Amino acid sequence: MTKKKFKCEKCGDAFDTKRGLHVHKAKKHEDVDVSEYEIEEILDLLDESMEEALDIKKKKENLEKRVREVQSEEKKLEHEVEDLKEEREDLREKLDGFREEKEDLKMEVDSLKNERADLEARKNSLEGEVEALEEEMKEVEKSLTRKKDVLTRLRHQIYEFDKNLKQ
Ligand SMILES: [Zn+2]
Repeated sequence: MTKKKFKCEKCGDAFDTKRGLHVHKAKKHEDVDVSEYEIEEILDLLDESMEEALDIKKKKENLEKRVREVQSEEKKLEHEVEDLKEEREDLREKLDGFREEKEDLKMEVDSLKNERADLEARKNSLEGEVEALEEEMKEVEKSLTRKKDVLTRLRHQIYEFDKNLKQ
């Protein structure tokens, strides 16, 4: 059941459409000003424009809300990127620390190798000294043996000499 929305204010007749009402007014009530139709049209257009404007305003608000959301997301991402940068910096520092430690250890190992080489050289030199001393000792022993021989011969000669004197 549809109610006729457009009512004539002059006679009370009602119509389904605005156009129908205007046609009625133009036929039945000739005294009605022609420009009234135009005014109605303009008012309609204004209503439509108002609705469109409200619609656009709503869309704008939604877009602004979305923009704010995106900006907040962007800030969050920037924060995350900042955190990642800091983490990367930390890792780089740690890596530098490890490298330095490795370098230190390498230097220590090199120094220990040098020390070992020095000790080996010293050991060799001491062994040489010991050999030389052993050689010297042998020479001394030989010379001592020769002296003993000479002494023995001398003793024998003295004994013979003594024996000859007693005869
Ligand atoms: Zn009428």
